[in-house]
Amino acid sequence: MSKPRIYISTPHLDGNEGEFLALTLDSNWIAPVGVNITNFERELSKYLSQGKEVTALNCGTAAVHLALLLAGVEAGDEVICQSFTFCASANPILYVNATPVFVDSEKQTWNMCPELLKSAVEDRIARGKKPKAIIAVHSYGMPYKVDEVHAFAKAHQIPVIEDSAEALGSTYKGRKCGTYGDFGILSFNGNKIITTSGGGALVCPDQSTKQKTVFLATQARDQAPHYQHSQLGYNYRMSNISAGIGRGQMQVLDKHVELRRRMNSFYKDLFKEIDGINVLEEPSADFHSNHWLSAILVEPSLTGGITREDLRVALEKDNIESRPLWKPMHLQPLYKDYPYYGHGVCDSLFDKGLCLPSGSNLTDTDRERIANAILTVFKDA
Ligand SMILES: *Cc1c(COP(=O)(O)O)cnc(C)c1O
Repeated sequence: MSKPRIYISTPHLDGNEGEFLALTLDSNWIAPVGVNITNFERELSKYLSQGKEVTALNCGTAAVHLALLLAGVEAGDEVICQSFTFCASANPILYVNATPVFVDSEKQTWNMCPELLKSAVEDRIARGKKPKAIIAVHSYGMPYKVDEVHAFAKAHQIPVIEDSAEALGSTYKGRKCGTYGDFGILSFNGNKIITTSGGGALVCPDQSTKQKTVFLATQARDQAPHYQHSQLGYNYRMSNISAGIGRGQMQVLDKHVELRRRMNSFYKDLFKEIDGINVLEEPSADFHSNHWLSAILVEPSLTGGITREDLRVALEKDNIESRPLWKPMHLQPLYKDYPYYGHGVCDSLFDKGLCLPSGSNLTDTDRERIANAILTVFKDA
C-alpha cells in the first residue's frame, strides 16, 4: 500500500468548531447574517487590536476588491502591486479596470523592494499618472519592510492595501500584520493558517468604513422596505456557518502559529549541514513570521548540481507535496504586458525556490518521512 500523502498545508480543525456548527444548525441562521459573523469579527478585531474594525467576507479576493473600491480606484487608474505573490493580490485590479504596475522584491523578506517602489512611483508620476494605491504582500507570512514601504507611501499620500492573507499572527515591531495598511486583507481559505473553508476579511480603520464595506458586500441595498439600489454592490458577505468554524479556529490561532514556526525550525535544523540550501528567515528581531509556509532556496552551484526540481521530484516519489515558489505576476501570461520594475530578484526566487510541507497538523512520522526523502537526495549525490 502506498504511503498517505503529505500536503503543503491542510485545514487543522482542533478548536471547538463542531460545537459552534451544531449551535448554528440549531439556530437556523444558515445565512450570510448571524451571531457567529458578529462574534468572529469582534474576535478578529480584538486579536489585531489598534482599534481596527473587521468585515468578514466570503473570500480574501473580495477583500482586495473592496479595498480598491474604498481607496477610490477607478477604471484607467494605476495600482502598484508586488509581483511576487498569488494572483488574488492582483486580479481585483483588473476587476475594476485599472492597470497593475508590478514591482520586484528585495532579497531579505522576498517582498516589495522599497527602492524599486520609489523608482516605480516616481517614473509613473513622471509619465503623468500617480498610482492610486499600493498592494504590498507579506508572502508566506514574512512581514515586508513595513517602515520603508509605508513611509514612502505616506510621503506621496498613496493608500496601502496590506495583503496579510498569509500573515495572520505575524508581527512587525510587535504589532500585528494586517493593521499597518489603510486596509488589511485576511484569508481563511482551506490552506491558510486558520480556515473557514473559504473566507476572508477586510481590516478597516474605523466603524464608518466598516459599514461602507458591509453595505457594498450585501448588494448595496438602500434603506427602504423594498429592494432599492443606487450603487453597484456585491454578494461578498461571509456565511454564518463559515464564521462558526472561524470562531473555533480563533481558539487555536496562536497554537497554529507556534506549530508552523516549529516546522520552520525543523527545516532550519535539517538544512543546517547542507550547503547551498537556505531557509527563509526573519532578517531581524523586528520581523516575526507566522511561517505559514516554510520555503527554501536551492543554489545548484553549491549543492553539487542538485536543483529544487530534483528535490521536488524526490519528495513527490515519496508522495510528499512541495511546490515552486510563486511564479511572479510579471511572468504570468495574463500580466506579461503590464509595466514592471524589477532587478531579477523574484525571477530568481521562482527559479530556485520551493515550498515544503508546513501544516500545523504534521506529525513526527511525517517529519521523519520528509527528512528521509530530502537526505536521500543528498546521500545519493
Ligand atoms: C490566499 C490569498 C489571498 C486571498 O485568497 P482567497 O482564496 O480569495 O481567500 C490574497 N492574497 C494572497 C497573497 C493570498 O495568498
